[in-house]
Amino acid sequence: MLLWRSLTSSISWPRPSLLTAASVFRGRIPLYNRVNPCKPIAAGRRAASFAAPRPELVREALFVPPGVAKENVTVGMVLPGSNIVVGPYAGDARIKHADFVKSSSRAKDCPKDDRPEFAIIGRSNVGKSSLINALVRQKDIALTSKKPVCAVDDVLLCCWSAGKTQLINHFLINKSWYIVDLPGYGFAHASESARMDWSSFTKGYFQNRDTLVAVLLLVDASIPPQQIDLDCANWLGRNNIGMTFVFTKCDKTKGGKGSRPADNIKQFQELIKTCYREPPPWIMTSSVTGLGRDELLLHMSQLRNFWDNNEE
Ligand code: GDP
Repeated sequence: MLLWRSLTSSISWPRPSLLTAASVFRGRIPLYNRVNPCKPIAAGRRAASFAAPRPELVREALFVPPGVAKENVTVGMVLPGSNIVVGPYAGDARIKHADFVKSSSRAKDCPKDDRPEFAIIGRSNVGKSSLINALVRQKDIALTSKKPVCAVDDVLLCCWSAGKTQLINHFLINKSWYIVDLPGYGFAHASESARMDWSSFTKGYFQNRDTLVAVLLLVDASIPPQQIDLDCANWLGRNNIGMTFVFTKCDKTKGGKGSRPADNIKQFQELIKTCYREPPPWIMTSSVTGLGRDELLLHMSQLRNFWDNNEE
């Protein structure tokens, strides 16, 4: 567990005991246009795109998972629209079942079993509910911000906002691991005390949850970097909590007040890079086009399988 928590520090990974060839996934991952990874490559253009010159591999910027030596990484091992290398721990990433389990108002009330979990966190309106729904392919298993309260299995699920209940929502995936929906942060009009409340609530969860594999920190790529996201990233980095940056709304290339997602992502990475000895994994997603969904699930599978095989 401690080993996994040091994901963001410079460590040498042990050789995996259970190997699954990453090559088995080739062909399952949708192809993306490498100039604009927001756009999948049309089927007819795929052959031509293979013939195009490969971009240069900047190894220093990659997230290299356990079981892979940096010098052996090739372009084909990097998930499109991300800096994530697929390694031998990647496994079956499909979600076949997703069940809402419970809402907890305190970290100590969360499910008490040994199943690994991924916590999803981000600013209010970042697209967290949409991403959870897209990952599990179940409309409205999580809430969208337009519906702050709804009943699922007779249990009230609440999206936190200033003055509303903060709840940790557990979704059991394939009866073997959890997706955990944490309250959104950064409501523009939240009071100081509400913000502090969010802080102690979620920090308590992060620091005490032994089964936490990684935090998916959602960042809206359609707007320039926000200080509150940088603060959250810095806090997680300082506390050595393994995380993946999931950039949302990468389909929003026009209009709005922000610049292009690719520029915003680059700027965000520049701003956080001093906090990490090794580059944390990041990936571009869109709940509208499905960009990054399968890739993110594959990445989660390799984190999970490594965690399963190295749990202390
Ligand atoms: P939450 O508050 O973080 O749970 O955010 P929601 O999932 O409720 O999304 C907030 C708003 O952003 C909604 O209007 C969504 O339709 C929109 N949204 C979410 N994801 C995307 C996306 O990938 N692309 C675009 N264009 N809009 C999105």
